[in-house]
Amino acid sequence: MARINDNYLKLKAGYLFPEIGRRVREFTSANPAARVIRLGIGDVTRPLVPAVLKAFHAAVDDLGGTENFHGYGPEQGYDWLIDTIIEKSYKPLGVELKTSEIFISDGSKCDCANILDIFDLSNKVAICDPVYPVYNDTNVMVGRTGEANDKGYYEGIVYMPCTAENNFTPAPPAEKVDIIYLCYPNNPTGAVATRDELKQWVDYALKNDAVIFFDAAYEAFITDPSIPHSIYEIEGAEKCAVEFRSFSKTAGFTGVRCALTVVPEGVTAKTAKGETVALNKLWNRRQSTKFNGVSYPVQKAAQAVYSDEGWEQVREVIDYYMQNARIIREGLTAAGIKCYGGVNAPYIWLETPEGMSSWDFFDKLLQECNVVGTPGSGFGPSGEGYFRLSAFGERENVEEAVRRIREKWGK
Ligand SMILES: *Cc1c(COP(=O)(O)O)cnc(C)c1O
Repeated sequence: MARINDNYLKLKAGYLFPEIGRRVREFTSANPAARVIRLGIGDVTRPLVPAVLKAFHAAVDDLGGTENFHGYGPEQGYDWLIDTIIEKSYKPLGVELKTSEIFISDGSKCDCANILDIFDLSNKVAICDPVYPVYNDTNVMVGRTGEANDKGYYEGIVYMPCTAENNFTPAPPAEKVDIIYLCYPNNPTGAVATRDELKQWVDYALKNDAVIFFDAAYEAFITDPSIPHSIYEIEGAEKCAVEFRSFSKTAGFTGVRCALTVVPEGVTAKTAKGETVALNKLWNRRQSTKFNGVSYPVQKAAQAVYSDEGWEQVREVIDYYMQNARIIREGLTAAGIKCYGGVNAPYIWLETPEGMSSWDFFDKLLQECNVVGTPGSGFGPSGEGYFRLSAFGERENVEEAVRRIREKWGK
């Protein structure tokens, strides 16, 4: 009989969002008149901008004619998209990249999961807590961990608690690890890493021959000019870091699907025999074998994000979300709730009032304000006592939610 990958059985059942859904359904069926406002999900709500839509449509028409028809494209993505990204997104940061160092894909979620293909199971992995669950669960799936303990920590992973005490940005661990996941601006905490903090990590990685996986899905939301948008703004990162970026949150592509992974040629790791191999070569081989590229119209739509018109329109949408973030942050702060994030990220991470647990606050907020958020404990044990509100909503809903919360908790 065929055997399954038993590591999948170590995973705890998808609990957070199904449980939120269950509690919201229970509440709405008992209170059908309540107008529930959802500030829980990490998905965009604004439509694609006109410049992107126009390029998308034109590229679909190309496929309908013999002259500009496109079949299989390069597995790594079209050079015209990669070179546009280098020119418009990395050059202005002072970051030099080669076409061969960027790989276009259909999502950062898949990339940060798939990258584990090219690493041995013996690597020691460090993950923040709370965290985007993909980093943890994909390591469980490949068999790098033992079972989870009562807290939800898997044996074999080094967890780095991120709390108000360390500004939600951990210092490098005392022990030696081989792979480190960092996500800045952060989901769920909305925290950012300063240049000095990132430098500490790059120095640690260079000293310990470690690789940093840097998830920059929210870099476009940074408003503070002193905060780096890319790990490659830190000297030496081109020798130790892989960076993931996505059009999902930047340009509303969560349903369109386009992202990129940067694997500089100078990033290396060791073979079993101790020889040095460039990760770029292995990732290229992995993608060429297991992936057939992102569709031509999607890559054309992504390129249009960087046209003058496209960028201006995309910025407007980001500004809209960041205004929402400001309204939430200021409104809740005025109600006496301690808030973090929401300045360089579309998430507000708040301390639950009166020391409530994350789920107790969830229930109270739902019942008394008819507002849905995400319990911090769902992102990891150190998220207990915190709560995430998302700025990806409609303005009037955001304003109404804040009004209700202020009525309830405002003094
Ligand atoms: C939304 C998000 C992504 C983007 O994932 P895609 O697969 O590109 O849509 C990546 N990382 C984090 C932390 C996210 O929240």
